[in-house]
Amino acid sequence: MVKPASRVEKIPPYLFARIDKKKAEARSKGIDLIDFGIGDPDIPTPRNIIEKMKEATENPKNHRYPSYEGMLEFRQAVADWYRKRFDVNLDPKDEVLTLIGSKEGIAHMPWAYIESGEIALIPSPGYPVYKIMTLLTGGIPYIMPLREENGFLPIFDEIPEDILHKAKIMFINYPNNPTGAHAGDDFYEKVIEIAKKYDILICHDAAYSEIAYEGYKPRSILEFDKDKQYSVEFHSLSKTYCMTGWRIGFAVGNKDAIFNLGKLKTNIDSGVFQAIQYAGIEALTGNQDSVEEIKKTFQRRRDLVVDGLKSVGINVAKPLATFYIWAKVPGGYTSADFCEKLIGETGIVVTPGSGFGDEGEGYFRLSITINEERIKEAVKRLKALKL
Ligand SMILES: *Cc1c(COP(=O)(O)O)cnc(C)c1O
Repeated sequence: MVKPASRVEKIPPYLFARIDKKKAEARSKGIDLIDFGIGDPDIPTPRNIIEKMKEATENPKNHRYPSYEGMLEFRQAVADWYRKRFDVNLDPKDEVLTLIGSKEGIAHMPWAYIESGEIALIPSPGYPVYKIMTLLTGGIPYIMPLREENGFLPIFDEIPEDILHKAKIMFINYPNNPTGAHAGDDFYEKVIEIAKKYDILICHDAAYSEIAYEGYKPRSILEFDKDKQYSVEFHSLSKTYCMTGWRIGFAVGNKDAIFNLGKLKTNIDSGVFQAIQYAGIEALTGNQDSVEEIKKTFQRRRDLVVDGLKSVGINVAKPLATFYIWAKVPGGYTSADFCEKLIGETGIVVTPGSGFGDEGEGYFRLSITINEERIKEAVKRLKALKL
């Protein structure tokens, strides 16, 4: 067999392989699985977006290659949405870039900015793409641990001065996957201060900026970086509009960063299917009632899950944003052992915290992307579980 490139061999083994095996085993025994493992909304995409997509597929103009950077109309819709939502002005021509889902843009950022041996600051636990893509470029991920006692925010004072001087980019993600944590204004102020002092490009993953409860409104990093000198922000339509399968997102912010990411992308992909961009315009500019409905659904589920966990002695606070519950593993098990035990004995699937980095060990993540009836059934089964 031909030996693959060492960069591919460097990719750590698929994190959830053990859990997948356990799931298959349980299924073959006829166990009815309740899957809190997948961070993918079970709610369908709102009707108005689907209708727009249908209409747009009929137009032959949309069947051809789209423009690399995205239709100006879509980027204008993004700029309008930003002004309305964050009171931030963006030039749609050079401060907005359409992405094939935000994951795509996030994955390519290290390729645009990190050379072999250069440092990227990466949160852990975190979305695995930040670290793995940094490793693939030959870069060095410097881990910023997110600890519960610090509200799952990195402690910048712990990062050695020479690392900060060498670091080129920093990934942050609030509201946060997997911890459900959110960041206050003082955090964003501090981040921009560090970016300024050490010349670091901040990459803020804002995939959950619209999934927030009880009146909480997550902020954009660009509200704190008024001249857009130090940051880019990644957004996704996936979570807000339940469009994970459609593959559309966008990056906004610093002109140079948008240019460099876009330049790289012209050699990789050929943009987003225009019909999907029209659907994206409808999502951002159309009636937003469906977003409110989606959030109400998640909030009810959040309350059911958190109260259910409490009733079996697992105490977690209700997160103000995201559709994740991040809880401590009970009974002294490792994350992986607990998750295996849970599947085997109850059919409940959760994600081991260690899958999001070493700092996630001792935790598990529940994604509230299943209906209330099934959540109630899961709580019933948890009550019967001996830990
Ligand atoms: C879901 C998710 C993404 C990717 O979203 P897409 O736009 O569907 O690619 C990025 N970051 C985080 C933290 C996510 O949870």
